Amino acid sequence: MSSRVAFVTGGTGGIGTAIVKQLAQQGHRVATNYRNEERAKAWQAEMKAQGIDVYIVKGDVTSPEDAEAMVKDVEAALGPIEVLVNNAGITRDSTFHRMNSDQWCDVINTNLNSCFNVTRPVIEGMRERKWGRIIQISSINGLKGQYGQANYAAAKAGMHGFTISLARENARNGITVNTISPGYIATDMVMAVPEEVRNKIIADIPTGRLGTPEEIAYGVAFLAGDQAGWITGSNLDINGGHHMGW
Ligand code: NDP
Repeated sequence: MSSRVAFVTGGTGGIGTAIVKQLAQQGHRVATNYRNEERAKAWQAEMKAQGIDVYIVKGDVTSPEDAEAMVKDVEAALGPIEVLVNNAGITRDSTFHRMNSDQWCDVINTNLNSCFNVTRPVIEGMRERKWGRIIQISSINGLKGQYGQANYAAAKAGMHGFTISLARENARNGITVNTISPGYIATDMVMAVPEEVRNKIIADIPTGRLGTPEEIAYGVAFLAGDQAGWITGSNLDINGGHHMGW
């Protein structure tokens, strides 16, 4: 397997950490962003203790200027970015009739506009080098909708439109573009949901349990691999059977 340079946004989070580890364990050189220096340094040290070297860059994915600077920094340190994982995301749940503009815009900016901000400075280099893997971490709720998540579902659904358009534009340049739609994963994001609601969600999942971050990371590594070169414009559902069909 080739060793690639991978940039994973939001790599210090629950799913992001598993993605970073999985890619690094496969021999890739991995970078991620952070916003809080103290927390990021502690996380990087924890990774180091586990034998995982991660290059970290400061930046907010909602800012085009930060995104461009992060890409420049990573490329100067590790070489051209060959695998990009747009994973950074947030929720700001509220039923729509109570949702304010900040809740809407923060979620669209962080989950969807970030894909423009980070992919834009990466794509031209990938096109020139005729190789690239771009993977968006969307969500089951971008496919089926969710009560209290009009903002999040809109952003995550938008990631699919972004993916399939980018896939068409770049297929002849050796670049694949895909989404992964995780179901409910046992991370802080889901553990913050009240236990009673969480138990109802679990009861609805055919496999009878939440997913693990590692199960999402495995999908990312698969799509990032050399042998996945004919998979483009696809969505990979990793959800324990929670949402089936198309
Ligand atoms: P976490 O909250 O654990 O991690 C989110 C990461 O994104 C953190 O590293 C966070 O950094 C970073 N981030 C958030 N906002 C920004 C920003 N503006 N600029 C830069 N970095 C930012 O979430 P998960 O690991 O659970 O989720 C990862 C992805 O998977 C998200 O896109 C989420 O929507 C998606 N997903 C998650 C599911 C789940 O069940 N957990 C289910 C389906 C999809 P910081 O520490 O600085 O906040």
